[in-house]
Amino acid sequence: MTAHRQPSTVHRGAPSSSARSALIIGITGQDGSYLAEHLLAGGYTVHGLVRRASMFNRSRIDHLRAAPSSQPAAHSSKPEAQGSRLTLHYGDLNDRTSLRRLLKTIAPSEVYLLAGQSHVGLSFEIPEVTCEENAMATLGLLEALRDLENPVRFYHASSSEIFGLPADSPQNEATPFNPVNPYGCAKAFATQLCRVYRSAYGMFVCSGISYNHESPRRGENFVTRKITLGAARIKAGRQAVFALGNLDARRDWGYAPEYVAAMARMLQARQPGDYVLATGKTCSVRDFATAAFAELGLELKFKGKGAGETGVRTDTGAVVITIDPRFHRPADAANLTGDASLAKKALGWAPKVTGTDVARLMARVDREAIAGLKPETCFKHRDRRVRRD
Ligand code: NAP
Ligand code: GDP
Repeated sequence: MTAHRQPSTVHRGAPSSSARSALIIGITGQDGSYLAEHLLAGGYTVHGLVRRASMFNRSRIDHLRAAPSSQPAAHSSKPEAQGSRLTLHYGDLNDRTSLRRLLKTIAPSEVYLLAGQSHVGLSFEIPEVTCEENAMATLGLLEALRDLENPVRFYHASSSEIFGLPADSPQNEATPFNPVNPYGCAKAFATQLCRVYRSAYGMFVCSGISYNHESPRRGENFVTRKITLGAARIKAGRQAVFALGNLDARRDWGYAPEYVAAMARMLQARQPGDYVLATGKTCSVRDFATAAFAELGLELKFKGKGAGETGVRTDTGAVVITIDPRFHRPADAANLTGDASLAKKALGWAPKVTGTDVARLMARVDREAIAGLKPETCFKHRDRRVRRD
């Protein structure tokens, strides 16, 4: 599993930015929404796939559809509404026929696959959907792209979860896969398949092996957003306490807008390849929570051990964080840390915002949203029926 570069295949240069068009599969998600912003600002024509839902699921991209560009597009001499370069199409990863048809109709120069079941904890509860969307759908897309007349550059959203319990730390592009959950297994399958299609068919296929990247647009059932929203609600007096699982878990947390820039650079490079995208620094869930509360002026101290541990406000003595064993996972990935030196060397990419800085940034935005100052950042599509958060 080391054939991650294919320098012998000669690829035609990337088209100029004015000729570039991208299909973002997963445009309504955290990364898809930031990537759409990034590509539109770079002069691209952007198509996005949205799936049918019983309620509109476009709160992360509504601002792109309504608002005119604040600046003229780089390739144009006159101001142009970014919205006019953004088109949404209904579709679903599980509907391969319509995906094929869409690819033929819009003929994009780049395709970014950012869609799928993205929650690791939930992958234990819905493993078949997780594998169908994260593994088999990637295969379906690679096959569809292989059949297209014009070559298309393809980005696959791989994950640090492919390493699971890794032999080495930090991990790089040559670290062997060793996933420990259904999500990681599906991503490992898809990552290897991308390598196979790159080397067997000479396709321009890249996997970004991303470590956790967060933002105020992160889904509310990921631990970072759960913490920053919880802290903001507690600060505003709207909530008293919330529960977490493994406080000792450490993650290499970065800032999502920086990561989407790397995705675009991969598809603009001369040669395709796989790249670890990471900050190289980790902090624990406990550290992240402490920083988020501190940003809101609340000092937090942790007391006790194991299931009896609590997070306590030092000003009032009130318990604001408890442990709920339901949020522990049957198996949790180790303290994954990435080595992104290849991305730095080949793409000139180096993230600036790390761990507790991300916590502070998210807490600030959530506090403003809760206070009603920036309502657009307060996403409401939570499913309270989901047991594992
Ligand atoms: P996200 O916020 O959960 O977004 C997932 C996107 O996939 C949403 O647009 C969602 O649509 C769409 N989707 C899900 N199932 C679909 C289906 N059957 N058909 C069509 N669209 C579907 O995830 P993210 O954080 O942006 O992550 C993007 C990708 O990177 C994912 O593949 C994730 O596994 C991977 N990744 C993320 C991280 C990270 O830290 N964020 C790290 C490593 C890898 P709805 O809006 O309708 O739900
Ligand atoms: P992941 O790394 O993609 O699984 O991102 P998450 O944000 O879902 O989880 C990051 C880490 O936080 C994992 O090790 C979880 O076990 C840990 N964690 C601790 N408490 C919670 C919680 O209440 N919810 C979630 N989602 N994760 C938690």
